[in-house]
Amino acid sequence: MNYREQSGKQIAERPDHIKRIDDNWYQVKSQSLSYDSWYDVVSTETGFVCDCPDHQQRKVKCKHIYAVEFSKTIRDEISKHVTISPISTQNCPSCNSENIIKKGIRKNRYGSIQKYTCRDCGKWFVFNLGFEKMRASPEAITSAMQLRFSGESLRNVMTFLKLQGIEVSYVTVHNWTKKYVSLMQKYLDKITPQLGDKWRADELFLKVKGNMKYLYALMDDDTRYWIAKQVSDNKYKDDISKMLRDGKELTGKKPKTFITDGAANFHQAYMKEFWTRQKETRPEHIQHIHFKGDMNNNKMERINGEIRDREKVVRGLKKMDSPLIEGYRIYHNFVRPHMALDGKTPAELAKITVEGRNKWLTIIQNASKVTGVNTYNEVTTT
Ligand SMILES: [Zn+2]
Ligand SMILES: [Zn+2]
Repeated sequence: MNYREQSGKQIAERPDHIKRIDDNWYQVKSQSLSYDSWYDVVSTETGFVCDCPDHQQRKVKCKHIYAVEFSKTIRDEISKHVTISPISTQNCPSCNSENIIKKGIRKNRYGSIQKYTCRDCGKWFVFNLGFEKMRASPEAITSAMQLRFSGESLRNVMTFLKLQGIEVSYVTVHNWTKKYVSLMQKYLDKITPQLGDKWRADELFLKVKGNMKYLYALMDDDTRYWIAKQVSDNKYKDDISKMLRDGKELTGKKPKTFITDGAANFHQAYMKEFWTRQKETRPEHIQHIHFKGDMNNNKMERINGEIRDREKVVRGLKKMDSPLIEGYRIYHNFVRPHMALDGKTPAELAKITVEGRNKWLTIIQNASKVTGVNTYNEVTTT
């Protein structure tokens, strides 16, 4: 960073030193202590111009222009940030009014629950968003998912539930997971993660009932966000361009660098989805025979560890069950704090913050609210 850039950055950190007139016209306070004046920084076809002596006489990019550019970047960054908060139990889920009263008890075969009525919109509801008619509490259900996706066997999950007094079948637990994963997926797929420019694809192979299956993953290097996945039957041969297409769709961009091993299907997918005729915008495809060759040891260890974790969980799933793999992707991105990311989740680094003590609960509540799976409908489970 040069001297002017440095000063520009300092100015941008003081919001009272920059006035935005409109998108193309800013005023930046003179940093000279001797007089109080403002310079005009105006956007033109050739970039910003400033009426300060530095820019006018020396024809250089002055600190005022840098300041405007930095402050725009800061603002864009903030506007891109998404926060998913726990749904307050103080407000009406339909109109958000606080003007609610207790009214009656709803009974069903899983117990009874307090009903509320909203005085503003007249609707009734229970504070059980997303978990209506379930045979177990939100805490028990989300704990079961947490255990499953952190690698516990289904048997251990059943034992855990039994200790909570919940007697359900394997099938029920499996159905809970499927139901909530698909609900969360619909909701989360509409939120754009802010990712870096270096993406990496890898594959994991597993024997499922005697047949080899391959799980492909597309990951962002900076955040370790798991962008997209694809399950396939043949190594090297399968067309995995769908995974790259899903990645573009979710993020609204392509990487600048795409790193894979030497398998031909990675390059074919790259040619189909990332390659462009124009050289300036063309992403680079780096193919390593020794896949991890471009990394330092820490990063390599981190990624190896992640692949081992993924392997452990996916192997435990017994079959290449897409909803469960999707659940594991959600766990990886949004729930699990990564040691190598200073205890943050990949989603947090990608500017999506999930608040609350129980992130599963926060996501499910918000997904239920947005997708309209609500308290007024019967939600059936088996
Ligand atoms: Zn200037
Ligand atoms: Zn209301």
